[in-house]
This record gives sequence, C-alpha cells and structure tokens, in this order.
Amino acid sequence: MKVLVVGNGGREHALAWKLLESKTVEGVFCVPGNGGTAILENCQNLSLTATDFYGIKEAVKTHEIGLVVIGPEVPLAMGLADYLHQEKIPVFGPSQSGAQLEASKSWAKAFMKDVGIPTARSQAFTDEEISQAVAYVEEQGAPIVVKADGLAAGKGVTVAATVEEAKAAIAESFGGKFGLSGECIVIEECLIGQEASVLAITDGLTVRPLLPAQDHKAVGEGDTGPNTGGMGVYAPAPLVTPEMMERVQREVLEPAIASLRDRHIHYRGVLYAGLMISPAGDIKVLEFNCRFGDPETQAILPLLETPLDEILLACVNQTLAELPPLRWKNGASACVVMAAGGYPGDYKTGNVISGLEQAEAIGAVTFHAGTKLQNGQVLTNGGRVLGVTATGTDFDDAFARAYQAVEQIHFDGSYYRRDIGHRVRSQIA
Ligand code: AMP
Repeated sequence: MKVLVVGNGGREHALAWKLLESKTVEGVFCVPGNGGTAILENCQNLSLTATDFYGIKEAVKTHEIGLVVIGPEVPLAMGLADYLHQEKIPVFGPSQSGAQLEASKSWAKAFMKDVGIPTARSQAFTDEEISQAVAYVEEQGAPIVVKADGLAAGKGVTVAATVEEAKAAIAESFGGKFGLSGECIVIEECLIGQEASVLAITDGLTVRPLLPAQDHKAVGEGDTGPNTGGMGVYAPAPLVTPEMMERVQREVLEPAIASLRDRHIHYRGVLYAGLMISPAGDIKVLEFNCRFGDPETQAILPLLETPLDEILLACVNQTLAELPPLRWKNGASACVVMAAGGYPGDYKTGNVISGLEQAEAIGAVTFHAGTKLQNGQVLTNGGRVLGVTATGTDFDDAFARAYQAVEQIHFDGSYYRRDIGHRVRSQIA
C-alpha cells in the first residue's frame, strides 16, 4: 500500500518514518512535506498545499494511494476528511464536525459539560458581549484564562495573572488579534498542576490510548519564558499512572466517543486529550485536539511496535475492536527540539544544517519540523527546526542519547533547552 501524509511538520515526518517501517507500506507521499521527508527513503514530497482538496484527490488517483493520513488541524477543520470520504478515499482523520472539538473551544466546552467530562469552569462570550466578559473576569478574579474560540496556531490562550491582564486579552481578541478565531472567547478557571497529553486512536466505536506523553511548552529552561509549540517531550510520562490512564479511558475518552456517535459525527482518527493533573491527582481536560500531537507523536511513535498502517486502517475500516492490543517497546523515548534562535519571536530561516548523519550514527532519529531541501542541502525553514529523538532503557539513557545527537547537529543560531525531561531524569548535566 502507498500512503499519503498531509502536513509539513515533525509529526508528519514521524508518521512517514513509522509507516515506512511497516512491511506492507511500499511508499509514502507527503503534501507538502519538508526537508526531512524529502530525504527519507521511499518517501516523496508533492508540491501541493495541505488545503488543496482537489489536488490531493488527484494525487491519490495518480499515485494509486490506499490511505490518506491528515496531520494538521487546519485541513481537518476545513473538511478535508469529509471531502476525501465522499470520494471513497480511505482517510484517517475526523470530519469537519468532529474537528470542532479543536476548532471551537466554546463548542468543545459545551460538549464536555454536556457529556460530563471533567474540565475547568468556564463561560463563552461573543464580541457583542464585551461588558459581560469584563464583568465575568472582575467577578471571578485572577488568575484566570482567556482563550480565543477558534484556531490560533497555539497562540490564542492567555493565562492572566491579574484582572487587568485578562481585560487586555479580551480587548485584544475582540480587537482582531486572532481574526475571526477571536470573535468569540472562552474565559476559564485557571487550573494548577502538571500537564500531560493522552492521544487516543478511534474508529468512532472503540477508542484506545497511546502512551501518555509530557511536553515542555515554555521556551526557557526551568519552564520559563513564553509558550511555544513545544520544546521537547518524553514518553511514557510516569506522571500519568496506569490508574489515571484507566480513569481517562472511562471518564474522558469513552464518553466522548459515545457522544460523538450519538450526535452522528463521523470520527475516525486521533482524539487527543490535553490534561491538567492537580497535585492531588485530579484530572481535568484542558483541551481536545483532533489530530496527532506535535511534538508528542515524535516521542511516542519510536516506541510503537505494532505496524502503524494496521492501526490506522483499523480506525478507517471500523475494525479497531478486533485489533490485538497495541505492542510497545520497553524503555523510554526522549525528543529534544532544536529551534531557531529568537523563536517563538522573530527568527532567521535559510541556515545550513550539518551533522544529521552523525546524529543518526549515534542511533537517534531526527524528525524535521521546519526544514527544506534546497540544492542538496537541508536548510532551516521554521521556528521549531528539528526534533532529535532517541529511545533508551530508561529516561536517563534516552535523554543521554538524544542530547549526544543534538551535540552533533549545527546550524547558525540554534537553540535548545538542556533540561528537557527534568522531571524524569536523575540528573541534569
Ligand atoms: P489550550 O490550547 O486550551 O490547551 O491552552 C494552551 C495552554 O494554555 C495549555 O497547554 C496550558 O499550558 C494553558 N492553559 C489552558 N487552559 C488553562 C487553564 N484552565 N488553567 C491553566 N492553564 C491553562
């Protein structure tokens, strides 16, 4: 079978890489892919955009592709899965109505309340209700969280330490900072604790979790500075104990899938629950995403032993209940993100990346997030550039390998956190 992967990040490189490990996958096409997928054996980038529905459909026919996997949320929210499904093309990824779980925070919050999924107390406001929004913030007090309703590339959330900060966030969102995505906002109770990600696969009937992962959102060491798309991640996150995973399955994943089914929402893909785990061990859902997490996928997939295409096809064909339990390697996986200096603010692109072969020789796998191949050279092409990933017998071993590999790789202005995994490593060098 040939598979087409939609997207151009580290997640898509990891998906393509894992798919190609399977004996039954003869080739992968990426739309549009990146420098990493361009140099991956048996993988070919197609110069189409991730939202070119017609182009993707034509590529499926031309290359006789048996499965499309949609990586990012934007094409899902635009209805790419519905479009391909109508064309009778097997597609892994939820319908547009299912993608609302990520594309509209107010919809997701109403869904969670309705289904009884534990989540933070909240209220939604439209831009015509600015005085009510301000009054709500004054009544609730700080800290408090203000979220743009729609997709904002992870930048639409303000965790406000003061009422004034929250009011400024309301004014900014309603003032057009996030375009249409900010015309409605959700104001939410601020939760305290540690965050973890549980990604689950579903065929709309059955839902099965992957290994839990823990990301590092802050750009600076010691979890300081502004939030990013993720600076590093590890799996399986010991914070999420087997008992907690059972609760997530029972209290979050299964009721969510049952309710989507009751609403006749077509959902065959990933349901990703972003969790806040309180110091007392309470679990609340911060957000749902409707696709594989990035960078979480880069740490999770290297531990997966079951062929990925079997899993994705079981979701598409609604035979997930019949799939034997997922098999995982023992040990741990660590992913350290190498970013362009300045990220998440302004940064340069077009710098030559060297040392990728040396990193590979150490046994690490380097997933490309923001790179491109030009005249045979791999160049930086984004804020998060690489996800350098290694597995090991335990977290110390996995992180030692990942950081050894990071030290082989060079590009001008590269930046990475040296303390990724600080919660699970015995020592930080
Ligand atoms: P979201 O896109 O809703 O997951 O929000 C992005 C980030 O904002 C989360 O990963 C958290 O770090 C933070 N955040 C969101 N909601 C809350 C909340 N209710 N309490 C504390 N932090 C939050």
